[in-house]
Amino acid sequence: MGDGRSMPLHMLSPRLQAAYVMARAGLSTIASEHDRLALAERMLEAVNDVGLQVAEKPTRTPQPEPAQIPPIWPGNPVTLAQLIPGRLVQRYTEEAGEEVRTDVPCCERRITVEARDGLETDLVCPFDGLRYTLVLVDDEDGGLWANFTVVGEVVMPRRRSPTRRR
Ligand SMILES: [Zn+2]
Repeated sequence: MGDGRSMPLHMLSPRLQAAYVMARAGLSTIASEHDRLALAERMLEAVNDVGLQVAEKPTRTPQPEPAQIPPIWPGNPVTLAQLIPGRLVQRYTEEAGEEVRTDVPCCERRITVEARDGLETDLVCPFDGLRYTLVLVDDEDGGLWANFTVVGEVVMPRRRSPTRRR
């Protein structure tokens, strides 16, 4: 602080403006890509001329944004491309005595699991090579939601299609 090396922002601004005016001089229009490049070059020269140094912007460390993958709610269709790791797909269940039936999101194959609130189980769809965590949760209406969370792809001995699906 106060060693005179760093310039306060309010002093930087007029000097940058001066640099811009210098750079623009002689460029009446900035119509083309060529003109923009020329302006950029002149900016660099002018910035140098007014006594500022061009520094590399510190590389912005991108905030590790928690991947916000919107859930897919019951009744909404889902495509294979949407079944990315972390995606929650909630599905209806159908009670059958001690068990509930539901459909895996990828191909709507029917599966049956124990009807218990809080049940958590891993499952793999052998046709699509997708691994899920399935959790049953109380739907507060006497039933259970099936919450499928995509864990990822599983290497299958034989793929349904040799080309990558999109
Ligand atoms: Zn499937």
